Amino acid sequence: MTLWNVRYEEIKKLAVDICEKYDVRSVPINVFELALKLGIKVIPYPAKKHDIFIKESDDGFFMYVDEEPRIYYNPEKMYGRINYTILHEVGHILLGHIQESNLAETEANFFAKYLLAPPPLIQELQLISAEGIINAFGMSYEASCNAWNYYTKWLRKTKGIYNPYEQKMVKLFRSSLDEYSRKYPLGLMCWQTIE
Ligand SMILES: [Zn+2]
Repeated sequence: MTLWNVRYEEIKKLAVDICEKYDVRSVPINVFELALKLGIKVIPYPAKKHDIFIKESDDGFFMYVDEEPRIYYNPEKMYGRINYTILHEVGHILLGHIQESNLAETEANFFAKYLLAPPPLIQELQLISAEGIINAFGMSYEASCNAWNYYTKWLRKTKGIYNPYEQKMVKLFRSSLDEYSRKYPLGLMCWQTIE
């Protein structure tokens, strides 16, 4: 399902505001650190009860315990997948979702997709393919392809010109982006550094 344009804008602005408020300024975004700053406990599925938790979700889920938010996740998944799952659950919590629905899933998926690899940051790193996104933003191949498609759509629509909240985001991440570009001068070759 798709959301109203105004809702996409609200979620993108929320993502940038969260980065500003909680001092998230480096790529790849450390989702564990962000959750900690937000007061959310992030807990891997306990080995002894793994099967019970898997029945709830193969990837992860959130719940409130004594009104405190908790995210449980499957630690057997790949690093990129875990990052996405945790940010998706953070999205549910920040967006105030209290029950499952297609709308809640669409919003949380969009929040995670946007915040893991915001198009302005992909542009700043001068990445030229989905492969470059994997390393720069700590994502799975599948999520990187989605992020790449979203970036190309954004580029067609905006011609690469930033609106005010995108400018704010680029400014927040400036030094991390510069450091990354120094480390990996050829954005497209990044994938060769990982297994
Ligand atoms: Zn969900």
